[in-house]
Parts: sequence; structure tokens; C-alpha cells
Amino acid sequence: MSGLVHWAADSWGSVDLWIFGKAFIRPFREHHIDPTAITRHDFIETNGDNFALTIPSLLLSSYRFSTYDEQLIEQTYNWEMFIFLLSLFISFTNQIHKWSHTYFGLPWYITALQNMHIILPRKHHRIHHISPHESYFCITTGWLNYPLEYINFWPHLESIITWCTGAQPRSDDLAWAKKIN
Ligand SMILES: [Zn+2]
Ligand SMILES: [Zn+2]
Repeated sequence: MSGLVHWAADSWGSVDLWIFGKAFIRPFREHHIDPTAITRHDFIETNGDNFALTIPSLLLSSYRFSTYDEQLIEQTYNWEMFIFLLSLFISFTNQIHKWSHTYFGLPWYITALQNMHIILPRKHHRIHHISPHESYFCITTGWLNYPLEYINFWPHLESIITWCTGAQPRSDDLAWAKKIN
């Protein structure tokens, strides 16, 4: 899911799009120009958006747990736990992404988690930062990056979208590059 959202914001649309462009697309594109800026963001700036995103579904789960009877809780428990874990990983995605750009002063247990590939390793995420930023989009655990590259998932998805809409991926990045040249 982190890969899909990241891929969509990196590859399609423009920073000039009304509201959406400035609020959603721009942070992703700016991150390619200044990848270490994220390491200077405090906890709220780094994580505020993602934490906020999970509030509705967690509120809904809390409501269900407090109103459902025992049998209904048992029946829906696996799904609720999936949503809970998903929310947990969504909440920490930007923090994990920030750690993957932090080369000094990380606590030993964070580098240990990175080295064990439980959270996004630093070397692994570096591949995404090679221009034109068209691979290794997953930024939470990174587990799916290699399998998705292996099956050419992103190029296939992009060809389908280009075929349906005529739009070219990363076309405004290309336009910027031409302006610079
Ligand atoms: Zn990116
Ligand atoms: Zn990054």
C-alpha cells in the first residue's frame, strides 16, 4: 500500500493540480530533490498526516469493540486485527522512511530492525532515489520491492494506465528536466 500511494504521487499528476498537487504530490516530488530534508523534520511534521489518516478506522474499531457482543467480536476479530496492524504500519511509515535516510545517530535497535529487513533498510531505499525514481516504491518494510521489480509490476501498471488514459508517467518531471537543459 505504501508502494502504491508513493508510486501514484511520484508518477502521475502535477504539483500544479489544485489543492491536491500542493498538499499531496509536492512533498513526494520535493523529497527527490532534497532527500535529507525529512531527517530535519520533527515527530509531528514527519508523522502527523499518517497518524491522522488512521484515526477514522481506529475510531470505528473502538466503537465496534465497545458495542459488539462477545460472539460478534470473535467473528470479526481477524479482520479487526488486520485493520489495527495496517493502521500501526501506516502510522509509522514516514518515521521508518525517515530512519532509512538517517545515517548518523540512530539507536542500535533501529539499525538492527533495518538490517533484519523488518523495517525499510537504508541501502534498500537508496535504490528508489536514483533518478528517474521508477522502482522500489515500497517504504514501510520494503518486503515487496524485489518481487514487484522481478515481475515488472510498476512498468506493467504504468502501460495499462497509459493505454487507458494516454497519460505518460513522470511527464512533468521530464518537462522540468527539459527546462533545466
Ligand atoms: Zn519517490
Ligand atoms: Zn526517500
